[in-house]
Amino acid sequence: MATPMERLNIVRQQPGNGVCAECRDNNPEWCCLNRGVFLCITCAGIHRRLHSSIVRSCRLDSWKHHMVDSIATKGNLKAKAMWEANVPACWLPPSPNSRYVVKEQWIMAKYDREQFLATAGASRKPYMSGVKQGILYKRMKQSEVWNGRWFVLADRQLSYFKSYHDRTAKTVISLLHMNVTLNGPGLESHPNSMLIAFWDEKIKKTRHIFVYAEVGKDIMDWFCTIRCAKISLMREMIPELTVEEAAQRATWEFSIWGNLCKTPPTQKKFQKRFFVLDKNSLRYYQSPYDPYPLGEIYLGPSVRGFWVDEHVPDKLQHYTNAFMLHTPSRSNGGFPLLAEDSGSKMAWITALQDTVRNSKRPAAKTEATPAPPTPPFDTHSYEEEDTTFTPNVTTVY
Ligand SMILES: [Zn+2]
Repeated sequence: MATPMERLNIVRQQPGNGVCAECRDNNPEWCCLNRGVFLCITCAGIHRRLHSSIVRSCRLDSWKHHMVDSIATKGNLKAKAMWEANVPACWLPPSPNSRYVVKEQWIMAKYDREQFLATAGASRKPYMSGVKQGILYKRMKQSEVWNGRWFVLADRQLSYFKSYHDRTAKTVISLLHMNVTLNGPGLESHPNSMLIAFWDEKIKKTRHIFVYAEVGKDIMDWFCTIRCAKISLMREMIPELTVEEAAQRATWEFSIWGNLCKTPPTQKKFQKRFFVLDKNSLRYYQSPYDPYPLGEIYLGPSVRGFWVDEHVPDKLQHYTNAFMLHTPSRSNGGFPLLAEDSGSKMAWITALQDTVRNSKRPAAKTEATPAPPTPPFDTHSYEEEDTTFTPNVTTVY
């Protein structure tokens, strides 16, 4: 007769059990016995903190037949049907690469707060109102200091005030021109942090604001409330959008970020910059926390002269991790970029190639009508020639 461990291994191979029930990481080696789900080590650790979860290792703990009998009647698919019967569109399930707070809050919302059960009403999901106010700690523009600011999400915009008593907002951000992410550059500084990116019409640049909440639930509530408000607004403006389509477009994650070296236009020496690839916008900064980029390069389709080449001119051959980004505005050779190592080089080339490949070819009418000249993004920077990006601020992202 098969041992309990041998029987458990057969159950682990059943459909749905081959990935973590929470973040979908491969080959989960842990399980929550009473809920009958298989988990990766990170999600198992979070489950262990729930008083209602009994967590065991599939490899290290001893198993008895009655335990295997119990888990065999459940499994990831059955648990999903019950615990995720009613996940609001504003919630994004975690992936293996999600930050800890995203996994933690998903698991807490799912089992502890029971927000995704078929019977869970709106009273369990305050973020569904699309309005919220409270304190978030915001990183100052020019320093490493984080100060508490009063944030208000209402009337299609996010505003923040120096204090609760102030009547004039320091900054007002239109929901339509705003993206929020819990998985982006600079967020490692605080476990409950979020990056707000938006087109600053006054400065004509994309601005980054870094904020954090004191507890994980609060930052997730802000994230979900902003998504919920934006989904409603997008569907109001474009009635043919389904909830799923609006949810997909409401917020997004940056494709890749990290250090690369580039040569400023008037110099030949490589200088370190912090790069962010955000959809079609490749922005570079002096440091990851800068509110505004030194430059922003728009990446269009290859038919418009955008392409990435891992081969570099002879004069750069001795830089083994260098590659070239070609754009129409740099027709005489393109941008030489230098990655920190070969893995980073390939990751950047792949991400940039994917962006160029997925860029939509402009409609014939647009192609026949050249875009009007645009003001430079960075009028004080020696890197101003790289300012070829003009977002369409009327677009609903
Ligand atoms: Zn997991």
